[in-house]
Amino acid sequence: MAYVDPAKNEHSLYKGVWIFAEQRERKLMPVVYELLGEARKMADKLNVEVVAVLIGDKVEHLSQDLINHGADEVLLYENKAIKNYTTEAYSKIISKMIEEKKPEIILLGATHIGRDLAPRIAARTATGLTADCTNLEIDEEDGKLLMTRPAFGGNIMATIVCPNHRPQMSTVRPGVMKKAEEDKSRSGKITKFDYALNEEEIRTKIIEIIKEAKHDVAIEEAEIIVAGGRGLAKKEGFELLERLAKKLGGVVGASRATVDSGWISQAHQVGQTGKTVRPKLYIACGISGAIQHIAGMKDSEYIVAINKNPDAAIFKVADYGIVGDLYDIIPKIIDSIDNIDE
Ligand code: FAD
Repeated sequence: MAYVDPAKNEHSLYKGVWIFAEQRERKLMPVVYELLGEARKMADKLNVEVVAVLIGDKVEHLSQDLINHGADEVLLYENKAIKNYTTEAYSKIISKMIEEKKPEIILLGATHIGRDLAPRIAARTATGLTADCTNLEIDEEDGKLLMTRPAFGGNIMATIVCPNHRPQMSTVRPGVMKKAEEDKSRSGKITKFDYALNEEEIRTKIIEIIKEAKHDVAIEEAEIIVAGGRGLAKKEGFELLERLAKKLGGVVGASRATVDSGWISQAHQVGQTGKTVRPKLYIACGISGAIQHIAGMKDSEYIVAINKNPDAAIFKVADYGIVGDLYDIIPKIIDSIDNIDE
């Protein structure tokens, strides 16, 4: 369906860069601002508009925020039947929007919802999808979207193109791209999308939402992260890191080894299969510096590594390295902070 024939110049029928303005409980997800930043750059290169797709129940009030962060247009669909996300309803509505309006590019955050939704839309609109991208560029020569993501266990970066199908679709890993700056003087239009959603067709019904008591932390948002690795040797080691993080006004991060050992929840995991973070300060304690871990924290402004092995790979990316036993060093750092406070 969405095959575009280069011989007939069908590519030119598809225009505009879309982003999925994911909202939960009528609040935009942080990744939306990252998508807007990328979309704006691309749209300026391609000389087209940025359209934010906003759907939900009573969500129109979010439109101006999207415009202030770079959208030229908000494509809005409101219906009380989609107060909560369901794969079927969202994928039907967005696929219909795509069919009618023919965007050239569509970006979604690689959140739980984005990862669920994007493949369904790609299948419905018969186009390709590159999941979990960490870099996006427009090819200077032919204007195609170059979508880059880690492949083969993070050992290589693969750049993928979608030459003959439209739209070009990508999910983008949260926390990697820079957020769009806010400009309150921007103006844009809100277009209400007309679609008769047949509630009967939605086979999944949400009966109740039970929120898990949250131990989750938004480490992607933190300015200071104190991260622990297998060098902690035991679950209780994280209590020490928690104390340091609290002193510094930060949060605790973790390597996958510690998550796999059940010492801490996955929400804290930094790296290729965890979260990508770029805090002002990242303190890596007892983390060896495996490529998959580095992939998630290398863009931190300052990296401090504490490791008893002077040859640990983490020291290669660290701005400051402390060679020694973390159980000696961290209490001393905490004491020094206490002394400053006094
Ligand atoms: P280790 O490599 O065991 O390192 C422990 C370090 O602690 C050592 O350097 C040691 O010298 C030091 N140490 C020991 N005792 C002390 C002490 N008392 N004081 C100070 N230092 C001490 N890993 C991630 O972290 N995030 C990911 O998202 C991720 N994704 C992956 C995806 C794939 C497909 C694969 C194959 C692997 C992935 N990994 C990921 C795993 C990764 O390869 C490493 O195995 C993992 O990062 C190692 O964790 P670590 O540094 O805590 O442990």
